[in-house]
Amino acid sequence: MCGRTGVQAMNGETGKILTVHKDGAPIYDIVYCTDPACLGAMLKERGFGGRRFCVITDSNVGPLYAETVVKACESIGGGKTGLVTLPAGEENKNLDHISGIYRYLIEEKYDRKSCLIALGGGVVGDMTGYAAATYLRGISFIQVPTTLLAQADSSIGGKTGVDFEGYKNMVGAFYMPGMVFANVGYLASLDERQFTGGFAEVIKHGIIRDRAYYDELIQNRESILNRDAGTLARMLYVSNRIKKEVVEADPFEKRERMLLNFGHTIGHAVEKYLDFGMTHGECVAAGCCAAAYISVLKGFLAEGEYDTIRRDIASFGLPVKVEGIDAERVLQLTASDKKASGGRPRFVLLKSIGEAFIEENVSEDEILKGILSIAG
Ligand code: NAD
Repeated sequence: MCGRTGVQAMNGETGKILTVHKDGAPIYDIVYCTDPACLGAMLKERGFGGRRFCVITDSNVGPLYAETVVKACESIGGGKTGLVTLPAGEENKNLDHISGIYRYLIEEKYDRKSCLIALGGGVVGDMTGYAAATYLRGISFIQVPTTLLAQADSSIGGKTGVDFEGYKNMVGAFYMPGMVFANVGYLASLDERQFTGGFAEVIKHGIIRDRAYYDELIQNRESILNRDAGTLARMLYVSNRIKKEVVEADPFEKRERMLLNFGHTIGHAVEKYLDFGMTHGECVAAGCCAAAYISVLKGFLAEGEYDTIRRDIASFGLPVKVEGIDAERVLQLTASDKKASGGRPRFVLLKSIGEAFIEENVSEDEILKGILSIAG
């Protein structure tokens, strides 16, 4: 069983803990553990013993992992653990399914002390967090991320929410989890496309903040693609540390946290344009290439660095081009990005690999050229 000082680390990461702070005070732990049965002990150690739990999952993840998670919750008291299984997929990340969660919680008389467990990818994590933030004006929730994207990125930082009429994450709240349980073992059952897509957020962390980490990812390409558990555990730990540092400096995205949106302005517009026909990670990968292109266009980034980014992103099987997009229409969709200021999207651009910054002054023509650079 792993604990705070627990188990011998597997390649250094299992058994480790990262603590996320706000205003200098610890808020929640990211617990690294490859034994799913440890979840109960980790919850108990953080004061969740005796709580009533409800696991929210989706139709792909539930059949694989819900039973173990329910057992782990029931092993620490609090009675029978509920289970809500949402239909899988981004197209279900909406208020209708949030209503379904509220309905279940009300019918089963969940109260303010109850705790939701988000067992799934970024969609389940964002939805469960939003349901927890709003049910009875806020109850606890725990992130048990099961995709690479969710383990690397979305389970940390407290952004929760749903899409609204096709607009990405339009309705939501900043709401912190009580704990994140990071188990790389869950990644073994991910299909190739979801695994690769998740890597877009990982490489993004290197691109915006840490050149050495970026280089390390490229050097370890083979072990990452072969899903070597030790390599993945180390990679996720570093990605989580980068995200944690950015979020701690700016929890409510007033400025610095926007750096995490690198590749997302055009990425989100492409995602909406394709009506979610490409995964979030795939759109972010293409969006990163477009943002790097705009960085070159504006004279901030050397062309060689742009070529390196494109080559490396492609080498992980991620798209650097998107077939059949109408660039003008994608341009219009960038203006509805919720990070837009006065209808003009704020762009995260690069000075070099490892150094990103926020640029307000990107013209429509430059955005269009960025979009055209990824049009297949
Ligand atoms: P997802 O949650 O839709 O999961 C992808 C697919 O993999 C789904 O079909 C799911 O059922 C399946 N799956 C999940 N875990 C599995 C496993 N272990 N084995 C087999 N199948 C599994 O998508 P995602 O890529 O995890 O997340 C994308 C979402 O995350 C988007 O909605 C995006 O907006 C959001 N996001 C949020 C943040 C944030 O900070 N909150 C950051 C980045 C992305």
